[in-house]
Amino acid sequence: MNDTMLNIKNLTIHYETESGIVHAVENLNLELGRGESLGFVGETGAGKTTTALGIMRLIPNPPGKIKSGEIIFNGEDLLTKSESEMRKIRGEKIAMIFQDPMTSLNPVMTVDKQIAEMIRLHKNVSHSEALKLAGDMLELVGIRRERMHDYPHQFSGGMKQRVVIAIALACDPELLIADEPTTALDVTIQAQVLELMKELKQKFSASMILITHDLGIVADICDKVAIMYAGRVIEYADKRSLYTHPVHPYTRGLFKSVPSIDEDVDELPVIPGLMPDPVNLPSGCAFHPRCNMAIDECKNLQPQMQEAEPGHFAACPLCVRKFINGEALS
Ligand code: SF4
Repeated sequence: MNDTMLNIKNLTIHYETESGIVHAVENLNLELGRGESLGFVGETGAGKTTTALGIMRLIPNPPGKIKSGEIIFNGEDLLTKSESEMRKIRGEKIAMIFQDPMTSLNPVMTVDKQIAEMIRLHKNVSHSEALKLAGDMLELVGIRRERMHDYPHQFSGGMKQRVVIAIALACDPELLIADEPTTALDVTIQAQVLELMKELKQKFSASMILITHDLGIVADICDKVAIMYAGRVIEYADKRSLYTHPVHPYTRGLFKSVPSIDEDVDELPVIPGLMPDPVNLPSGCAFHPRCNMAIDECKNLQPQMQEAEPGHFAACPLCVRKFINGEALS
């Protein structure tokens, strides 16, 4: 389990726009073990999707550019691969599920053909074999084989997302990246789709990166959690450690803003202010204008990740020190 599958080192991705350089991802470091699932949590604009697109080498260029870093997947740096090598890796080794199934599916092609197309792209099988496998995949995600010749518009939102999952898993990828896979679905369907993803992750023994802003979903599915803020990972730990004692003030603010069924409160606490403009990030710790523990030096120091307890890292020297000394974190 501890065999590292993905190791991202100092990844920096910028978008060059008319209003200036968007610092979407800055010096990001991250590791994912084989068979592990990592929850990637943060507000809109934190850089989660950009990181995922970076791993897939799908950053639109221009305006986007991977400025520096390494993305080591199975011991090889994806940033040194040619476009044709990446085409083989996408789908076969790393697959991605996007938020809105309608943007991932071809509206004028029946779903069996869409799954079969992916299979034939990566596997040496005949057209009829690929169609048979497509039917198997549909059954695996809970869609009856009789519906394999239907078009996407004949399915509900939840069923469409099941088709997308079938396409993603059709070539048995080693890494599955799911970008807010249930955001476009209503709540009961969300639960079904998440349950399905959990089952399939076990069945296919794939590693998974689940991008979400929902800490509840992460608690249900993931082994490890990375919290992102303004293009950087600001806390990283295994789920139990992070949920029992979050260290970074931003992570603690996120937890406080989640409603609890045990507490009767009139108003939930919120983190004051907004995610900073990525074109004009604040100096020093980008969280300092919103941080209830900020001191003057936070405006000048770029906090690095420090280990608070084994395997639990946070980018706030003040809080890590307090945590290690057993002092209360406000
Ligand atoms: Fe807050 Fe300072 Fe820690 Fe940043 S470094 S999270 S501003 S206390």
